[in-house]
Amino acid sequence: MDTVILKGKDVSSSIKKELSSQISSLKLKGIIPCLAAIIVGDNPASKLYVSSKAKTFKKMDCDSEIFTLNSNVDEKDLLSLIDTINNDIKFHGILIQLPLPKHLNEQKILERIKPEKDVDGFHPKNQGYLMQGNPSFIPCTPYGCLKILEYYNIDTNGKNIVVIGRSNIVGKPIASLLSQNTKYGNGTVTLCHSRTKNLSDFTQKADIIVAAVGIPNLIKKDMIKHGAHIIDVGINRIDDANKEKGYRVVGDVDFDNVLDKVSSITPVPGGVGVMTVTMLLSNTVKAAFNQNK
Ligand code: NDP
Repeated sequence: MDTVILKGKDVSSSIKKELSSQISSLKLKGIIPCLAAIIVGDNPASKLYVSSKAKTFKKMDCDSEIFTLNSNVDEKDLLSLIDTINNDIKFHGILIQLPLPKHLNEQKILERIKPEKDVDGFHPKNQGYLMQGNPSFIPCTPYGCLKILEYYNIDTNGKNIVVIGRSNIVGKPIASLLSQNTKYGNGTVTLCHSRTKNLSDFTQKADIIVAAVGIPNLIKKDMIKHGAHIIDVGINRIDDANKEKGYRVVGDVDFDNVLDKVSSITPVPGGVGVMTVTMLLSNTVKAAFNQNK
């Protein structure tokens, strides 16, 4: 089978071209899209994610500022920082790098961000709009998955789509988006999770599988229908003595073994992950436009 590798980089480049002209038109009005990124603690993975986001913003002539707080920060101090950024017109978008330390109430903190600056799309107001089919900010990873389907013209209409994973930031929003009455929706969506009995019964019937679990190579060749399209959201580190770092990154799907059975598949790395940062930029540019109408 001639399998198409769904390259996040290609999709991202085409989106960045469009964004570039929007960023230039904002610049003519003296506006530079700017993101405030808040990190609590010194988790190296979080720092890496945020610095790669900052680099992407810089390359696209946009600004970002990183606020690093101690892991034992008082909740009221974090809330007060969010209030300050909410009221500063320089910042168009706010991102709080998750997960937060256990003593902080994640829900309360995400709800403190002004919905119009919530470029991650995690505020309940924005999640509610999305559920109603009238999204304001679509969470970046689900948005990236949609853009991949759109770029490669993968038809979702009337297809059996299985989403595996039901988190608020990936699984639930992508399942909702793919089931709505839109061009890249109208799927018959089944949402699977850790309590799903006989996962294969669902995946074997799927025309499209979106895997967002966090278990390396969970989805094997015998679980997939011939000709299916696969969006692999998972990012998992597995030990690999042959690599300098001692590990390599794989998805939730057994990529090498399913390759000759599927119509298309996103690689890990190089698939959805690249898109997440691009869609954060896209949401921030949108926020800058909205705040300067
Ligand atoms: P969560 O841990 O929040 O959710 C995982 C989901 O998988 C849960 O709904 C869980 O079910 C379900 N699950 C766990 N085990 C199984 C199983 N054996 N069979 C079926 N379902 C199962 O993870 P996230 O949604 O935050 O992330 C998922 C993956 O995507 C991770 O690898 C993460 O690193 C990656 N990710 C990638 C991004 C990117 O940019 N590409 C961005 C965000 C995440 P239950 O609800 O019952 O516990």
